[in-house]
Amino acid sequence: MIDLSFLPDAPVAVLGLGKSGLATAQALAASGVDAWPWDDQPAKRAEAEALGLTLVDLNACDWSLPQALVLSPGIPHRFPAPHPITVAATDADCPIISDIELLGMGEPQATFIGITGTNGKSTTTALLGHILKTAGKPVEIGGNLGIAALSLEPLGEDGTYVLELSSYQLELTYTVAFDVAVLLNITPDHLDRHGGMDGYITAKRRIFNAQNMDDASVVGIDDEPSAEIAKSLMAKGRKIVPISVKTEPAGGVFVRDFILYDAMDGEAKPVVDLRRAANLPGLHNAQNAAAAFAAARLAGVPTHQIVDAMVSFAGLAHRQEAIATINGVRFINDSKATNADAAQWALGCYDQVHWIAGGVAKSGGIADLAPYFPHIAKAYLIGEAAASFAETLGAVPHVMAGDLGRAVSAAFADARPGSVVLLSPAAASFDQYSGFEARGDHFRRLVLDLAQAEVRS
Ligand code: ADP
Repeated sequence: MIDLSFLPDAPVAVLGLGKSGLATAQALAASGVDAWPWDDQPAKRAEAEALGLTLVDLNACDWSLPQALVLSPGIPHRFPAPHPITVAATDADCPIISDIELLGMGEPQATFIGITGTNGKSTTTALLGHILKTAGKPVEIGGNLGIAALSLEPLGEDGTYVLELSSYQLELTYTVAFDVAVLLNITPDHLDRHGGMDGYITAKRRIFNAQNMDDASVVGIDDEPSAEIAKSLMAKGRKIVPISVKTEPAGGVFVRDFILYDAMDGEAKPVVDLRRAANLPGLHNAQNAAAAFAAARLAGVPTHQIVDAMVSFAGLAHRQEAIATINGVRFINDSKATNADAAQWALGCYDQVHWIAGGVAKSGGIADLAPYFPHIAKAYLIGEAAASFAETLGAVPHVMAGDLGRAVSAAFADARPGSVVLLSPAAASFDQYSGFEARGDHFRRLVLDLAQAEVRS
């Protein structure tokens, strides 16, 4: 837990008691700071009290007292409408900050690597953390992914924090100068919370704001907004390593035919065939791998160590996670693909796919996946979206499986050796599960049970 006892002697309000808010309130209290935790939901407040925290109703407090309000990333302070408590804080000139800001203040000597982007943040953060750890560096990995910022261990000047940063966290982070800032990509997402695309781009761009001239940045240039950002930072004389899986930028790291090339020192040198990194399948992961490679080199890790760590990377659960191969049939868990846009990557990676899909459909359903339908041997549809997905699939073979248990059995019965059973639902899970993790965990259990049954038979 991070020590916050350096803070001045005034209360710190904490709104939103999810994982990061609770961690913040606990770190404050443990540091002897007067923490004012609050949440609109009684269940969350009860959880905080059970941890020994003393609640303060932020709807009815004296806002002239707190030195700051730490706001959970899930709570809007601008769009679509600011939470009333943030309005009261702003009216009283109380600064609103993120937990990342407090971590930066608490560990001023440490090295900070921040990773943002619309897609691939978690994978790149975990991969880079794995590379640095394998290279023997003292490193802590967290932020938006995994462990909340203030629950991380103190590292001091020799340590490196590898942090996944959402645009919401970046909006409330002002002074953290990232030694290496990574922006993977920008495509439309969460626009309601940022007042449109321009607001979203501005939030992502904030990762570079507090950097010094000798800090470095890694920027994916395969989409227009990110390419523009790279260009304008370069024009200002900033150190930028461009990343691409489509072009071959000078001074950058790029991927051609799944070979990763390092041109950071001028001449482009082939470094590794990414097909060797079994848990980083697909071109989307090539972008993540290239970004992690560049950041690791900037952090001083030798190329051969980076390559070894990439090949041994175990991957993240629920993101094209290879569960088992049974009688030559591979089972892949991509439960994190909660919309069509995310599911296209996994569908594009395999042929002869026995595709398990469905749940709560997002707007547009699976219409955008039509170019990938030739990859589908048969679809097994579950949840609320089954009927509408069936309609879109039309002539593509499909069956109404209803739930995951029936879908897994039916897919295994149909699948031939060499084919793939893929859970990549292209839909949210809330009709049948508490979240994509629970759905993916259930799939894993079903597959492992199946593997055991096959061994016995
Ligand atoms: P995030 O943390 O940004 O949500 P993840 O690493 O958890 O990203 O990946 C989520 C999903 O997004 C993956 O299952 C994959 O389908 C897709 N994805 C991953 N990396 C990229 C990328 N670089 N570009 C586009 N899509 C990606």
